[in-house]
Amino acid sequence: MSRPVDLRSDTVTRPTPAMREAMAQAEVGDDVYGEDPSLGALEAAAAIRFGQEAALFTPSGVMANQIALQLLVSPGQELLCDADAHVVTYEGGAAAVHGGISTRTWQPAGAAIDVAAVAGMIRPDGFHAVPTAAIAVEQTHNRSGGTVIPFDTLRALRVVTEEHGVGLHCDGARIWHAHIADGVPLADYGQQFDTLSVCLSKGLGAPVGSLVISSAERIARARTIRARMGGAMRQAGVLAAAGQYALEHHVARLADDHDRAARLAAALAPSGVVDPAAVRTNIVALDLTKAPLDGPSLGAAAREQGVLVSVLGPRFGRLVTHLDVTDADLDRAIDVLLPLLTR
Ligand SMILES: *Cc1c(COP(=O)(O)O)cnc(C)c1O
Repeated sequence: MSRPVDLRSDTVTRPTPAMREAMAQAEVGDDVYGEDPSLGALEAAAAIRFGQEAALFTPSGVMANQIALQLLVSPGQELLCDADAHVVTYEGGAAAVHGGISTRTWQPAGAAIDVAAVAGMIRPDGFHAVPTAAIAVEQTHNRSGGTVIPFDTLRALRVVTEEHGVGLHCDGARIWHAHIADGVPLADYGQQFDTLSVCLSKGLGAPVGSLVISSAERIARARTIRARMGGAMRQAGVLAAAGQYALEHHVARLADDHDRAARLAAALAPSGVVDPAAVRTNIVALDLTKAPLDGPSLGAAAREQGVLVSVLGPRFGRLVTHLDVTDADLDRAIDVLLPLLTR
């Protein structure tokens, strides 16, 4: 059978020939000695894009998030985030294990954050209480289907965190998608946060890599934390070159992924499992509560016909468009999925 249409995640992309060429040509050195020019160039370029002072390359988004959280929250302090956030759902308890960080969550509401309610959760330092040190939000919000937090909400959160003297972190694994969907400049996002993590190996199509972005002082500390976590690398310039290529060539094209996700949602809408109005970026959430198949059965049946679907719960699935999904792939996926989802 031909190559399956893989809609599980935007992490499944492979580097393009031009990206591989950039990797092959990369100048490298030992980054532990601070001598990898390609890595330094990528970190500087990323910091500038977000209007921040400095950035640090990490092998994964989880490591970037966890370094950022350790920068903002000391052991025994707490982080507030939503119960569906990647940092408390998919990171293996890393905040507690690596950072001694306590987490308290608000009810999942995707991008629709109730700023006043979040502000009400903040606890001051004091006898008995676990003091709140930071708040984390996710842009775009993964489990709610790639939804985009409105810029006004982020600004209001920034005001609240400044008033209370707590940090604000953005898990920006897909912040590029928010930038394309809402037209908010990356530098404007960058201004709202103390720390950001951004991912080069999701929608942007690099094989490896994320970045922590923050002030020069924090990034200097981040370098030590990264080394402690085993994330210091040597000639990582070959990876940085892929990331640099992705930053320069694969951000604007995300609009194509968003268009394809919208087309997919519209085509599957008659089945009643997708809400096309909720699809803002490259993720199509599948609510299978009334579908003829549950998640695992849908996943297996689609796989048999060459379409890979992400199953995230008994009655919850997800389709993700990305660099390696063509219009023909999308037609094939619709032909397979619509009958499976329709009674
Ligand atoms: C994928 C993802 C991460 C973690 O990235 P990895 O590179 O897989 O470690 C963090 N946050 C969000 C929202 C993600 O989707």
